[in-house]
Amino acid sequence: MSSLLHSLAPLSHWPIGRASTLLISGPCSVESEEQYIETAVALAKTSRVHLLRGGIWKPRTRPNAFEGVGEVGLEWMVNARRESGLPVMTEVANAQHVEACLKHGLDAVWIGARTTVNPFSVQEIADALKGVDVPVFVKNPVNPDLQLWIGALERVQRAGINRIAAIHRGFSHLGDSIYRNKPMWEIPIALRTEFPNITLLCDPSHICGRRDLLQQIAQKAMDLNMDGWMIESHLDPDAALSDAAQQITPDTLVSLLDSIHIRHAQSDDITFVHELQALRSRIDKVDEEIIHLLGKRMRITEELGRFKKEESVTIFQIDRWKEILESRTMLAEQVGLSKEFILKYLEQLHKESIRTQTRVMNKPK
Ligand code: PEP
Ligand code: MN
Repeated sequence: MSSLLHSLAPLSHWPIGRASTLLISGPCSVESEEQYIETAVALAKTSRVHLLRGGIWKPRTRPNAFEGVGEVGLEWMVNARRESGLPVMTEVANAQHVEACLKHGLDAVWIGARTTVNPFSVQEIADALKGVDVPVFVKNPVNPDLQLWIGALERVQRAGINRIAAIHRGFSHLGDSIYRNKPMWEIPIALRTEFPNITLLCDPSHICGRRDLLQQIAQKAMDLNMDGWMIESHLDPDAALSDAAQQITPDTLVSLLDSIHIRHAQSDDITFVHELQALRSRIDKVDEEIIHLLGKRMRITEELGRFKKEESVTIFQIDRWKEILESRTMLAEQVGLSKEFILKYLEQLHKESIRTQTRVMNKPK
């Protein structure tokens, strides 16, 4: 299905996005007028922040947690904009939220991860945004579903919004992880691959859930050529009413930004360009060899299928599969490949091999 997302306005055409990387910062939640204005002024002083965030309707996992100050916070945000000179944005989860934001003249809004999962809610928000021209930021859904993310971006675009950005904030997961939400970088990479011009930011705060990991995720986002970040900042992080463990002071934010190594998508250095080309053609050649070998392997698999068919032997042979897993993992380790990678590869190979043999075996004579 072709998508209109290819025609979105690039970040360089946004009035607020003239800098090469866009930084959204501000506290997780607007807690009081004083707290918000002081934070806004401190962040403006850093001269590194382009947009101020602040949640006033907070989607919390448990009902006894701080659920935000509500609509009164919009007035405080507008006052903070006046004091700091920075545009302000908040999270919207339904049409009433959008209407309240538009009434108060907020500069932008974002759709949170728990809302992006629900097409009814996203459509309701999109309908409420019809005919207005505010930038809309769409966080990825909590579950790792790229199509749902794309669908939400499309719904917003169909409402006539042209300044849309995607925010990668990680994904819910089962089991242990050092991250609050697993980055699963392959998903934002797939989004970027499908829509090369889409504005894509990273939210290290909600990925990490803790301060000490922020730098490494913020750096990785730059290494993947993302367009900027949303990073939560609070004057007294430990006392924050929500997400205390992941917020940093404006000073720490500046140190974090100073430590980021910005790499360029391209280089003009001729020697570098030549060496890069040489390495790339070596990789191209190896990839060709791998693909030829995989084709060769699959042809043997077909032969195997025919052979098993004649003897009426089952396709799946658990002992053989175990032996393949063991021997290949060992070999992979010897040549410096990770176990995780080789297991993923073998799993795909095995699936394809079973599919091929099933086709051969069930072919009518
Ligand atoms: C937030 O930005 O404070 C927030 C609730 O984020 P997310 O939707 O990514 O959980
Ligand atoms: Mn938060």
